[in-house]
Amino acid sequence: MQINLGKAVLQSSPRRRSKNMTHQPSITQPLPFIDLRAQRRRLSPCVDEAIKRVLDHGQFIMGPEVKMLEADLAEFCGAHEVVSCGSGTDALVLLLMAKGVKPGDAVLCPSFTFAATAEAVVLLGATPVFVDVRPDTFNMDAAGLEPGLVAARRHGLNPVGVISVDLFGQPADYEAIEAFCNQNGLWLLSDAAQSFGATYKGRKVGTIGFATAASFFPAKPLGCYGDGGAIFTEDAELAAVLRSMRIHGYGADKYDHVRIGMNGRMDTIQAAILIEKLKIFPDEIARRNAAAARYTEALSDCLATPHITPGCSSVWAQYTIKLPAERRPAFAEALAREGIPTAIHYPKPLHQQTAYSGYPAAGNGLPVSEQVAKEVISLPMHPYLEPEVQDRIVAATRRALTG
Ligand SMILES: *Cc1c(COP(=O)(O)O)cnc(C)c1O
Repeated sequence: MQINLGKAVLQSSPRRRSKNMTHQPSITQPLPFIDLRAQRRRLSPCVDEAIKRVLDHGQFIMGPEVKMLEADLAEFCGAHEVVSCGSGTDALVLLLMAKGVKPGDAVLCPSFTFAATAEAVVLLGATPVFVDVRPDTFNMDAAGLEPGLVAARRHGLNPVGVISVDLFGQPADYEAIEAFCNQNGLWLLSDAAQSFGATYKGRKVGTIGFATAASFFPAKPLGCYGDGGAIFTEDAELAAVLRSMRIHGYGADKYDHVRIGMNGRMDTIQAAILIEKLKIFPDEIARRNAAAARYTEALSDCLATPHITPGCSSVWAQYTIKLPAERRPAFAEALAREGIPTAIHYPKPLHQQTAYSGYPAAGNGLPVSEQVAKEVISLPMHPYLEPEVQDRIVAATRRALTG
């Protein structure tokens, strides 16, 4: 029942392999961090039939479901153009390619994020410049953008754009970030790998910035059964370029190549699965919010629960709390002993990672990113977290805090 997130350090819980595992985890059974099986049970006939339809028609690459999904996604968030692709990372790389990002360019991005945000910049030969985050939302601090520009110029780089990240499912501080980008002639790319389905002051994720990159990695709020991603934009010309780039830069036909592209397509089977999952996604978002509200209600008196900016909504990719750094390891161990998995997103900010420590950071270091990396810990979160199970997690959490 527990999936390996791959993107976080999972504190494994002692887990017996029991053959007679029932659907509802009992009071003693180890819990999953994200229960994808509960969703699978709910969707079983529809998804199985959707996959079978693809197996039967056999158009595994760019089959009809790919276009259908793109239309459904556009309707869901109100974006004009949707270009599906192979992953969230592909979405970022394709967008930077389409923008002509090149060596000597600097792109400002938060340090406290998953590596793919900055990795895409490096893959284009450009330089990520790391900016600090806010201690309340963990999202990029707009006040760090000016020092980011200064750092880029000090390194002889040409700042071209900003990639904001909607960490843990909550949109970034877009009003302030957009204002800064407009004042400084920078483009804004929204890395919404964790936040598709969320809203920012009446605007839906997918309609902010010059384009939005989303991921359908299985553990994201809207996930497929493998890798998948999508790009959202209002710019039809950009979308046409992206459609060509995701299939090796095709022109008049598939053996006419007018630009450098890549293999960045979404599999038809994944599109077929996502069409079914998107139908229940609004209900799942409501369930995630109900679960988050229950956690906050039960825990806000004893620890730092997540802060949602007024006027914004989150899709709760993670429910991430903060503890004093020195207490975190024992807390995680105490929960693990009770069969409750936790995860740390992320144990090290990018500017401290081996692969990224050579790139510039804004201002005098990034103290908030370094601090929150030591304090954050995420509790199990998914749409099928039943109240009884949550009560058990809450009780164990309170014991772990006092013990
Ligand atoms: C997951 C994630 C990505 C990459 O998405 P993939 O589909 O795994 O390639 C990029 N940015 C952030 C913030 C992510 O969480």
